[in-house]
Amino acid sequence: MADRHLSVGAAPRSRSPLSDVASLGNSPGVVRGVAADVIDGRVMAAALRARVADEVRCLTASHGIVPGLAVVLVGNAPASEIYTATKKKMSVQVGMRSFAEHLPPSASEGELIKLIERINRNREVHGILVQLPLPAHIDPRKVITAIDPAKDVDGFHPLNAGRLVSGQAALIPCTPLACIRLAKSVHPSLAGLEAMVIGRSTIVGKPLAQLLLSENATLTVAHSRSSDLPTLARRADLLIAAVGRPEMVRKDWIKPGATVIDVGINRVTREGESQIVGDVAFEEASGVAAAITPVPGGVGPMTIACLLVNTLRAACALSALPPPKL
Ligand code: NDP
Repeated sequence: MADRHLSVGAAPRSRSPLSDVASLGNSPGVVRGVAADVIDGRVMAAALRARVADEVRCLTASHGIVPGLAVVLVGNAPASEIYTATKKKMSVQVGMRSFAEHLPPSASEGELIKLIERINRNREVHGILVQLPLPAHIDPRKVITAIDPAKDVDGFHPLNAGRLVSGQAALIPCTPLACIRLAKSVHPSLAGLEAMVIGRSTIVGKPLAQLLLSENATLTVAHSRSSDLPTLARRADLLIAAVGRPEMVRKDWIKPGATVIDVGINRVTREGESQIVGDVAFEEASGVAAAITPVPGGVGPMTIACLLVNTLRAACALSALPPPKL
């Protein structure tokens, strides 16, 4: 399995799966041309976190600045508790300060906004993240708008969204950033590629579309009203699924030799066991694609690594220092 994995710095490839059938390898468990290379998000994320840790050390040594990330959780949803604990652990591991704020599920919108305003004023905090989803009685748009845009490391504030669209420096949502890094591990330049994003949410699909355009890809964005998705998808050299429908993308949706990035995180029960699957039917898709991200172990870990990059960027910008080279 390991030698099917592409990691950071992997050489770009432009092969068709058919061309490799002629040279079937004998590596254990691997038959080239039948199974796609797996883009290993865990390995890439570990490498990126190590680079963030180096930059944090330099920033602290030369300027006395310790980047701080505040994670705000409202309620006790088990998945959200796991996500916030992971973000806290990873930020501490790269040498950042972690601030955890936990409000009960009954907390009001006003209480949450007051808390955010207090964190906005805390000079030790450079990045603020409010774990979504929020309880139904709280409007996430009001909460996100209350975050200081300079500390908005999720990149959801309308000011950052507008800056991204207009090509200005912005804090950019982490999952789209992660997708671009994963895609670039296969295609160092995305210019001229036919790219397709399935999903147009504010947090994934739309910012990802902006990033792909800024990388000069030729773009199609599909959604629940798009017709004949399989035909549209089969045109894509780079297919990114951010839908939230378990294994919706089948092998006949994929152009032979395409790169497939699977953003989906879907909990399903199979044979009495709970498991996480993506939006792409991984096993069958990897018989057609040239490279594919797994779920779990693809976009998820890279998203958290990109959150740390954003926190470091915010810390530098708030201190009027140049952005880190990451
Ligand atoms: P949303 O529910 O906000 O958006 C889903 C998008 O998919 C919408 O644009 C919707 O279309 C579209 N869609 C839904 N059903 C279909 C369909 N049958 N055919 C075509 N398009 C469809 O989800 P998110 O963008 O927040 O998340 C998408 C997935 O990514 C989820 O599984 C989520 O858990 C995962 N995720 C993973 C992250 C990670 O770190 N790995 C981070 C964030 C999300 P329309 O606009 O018309 O309704």
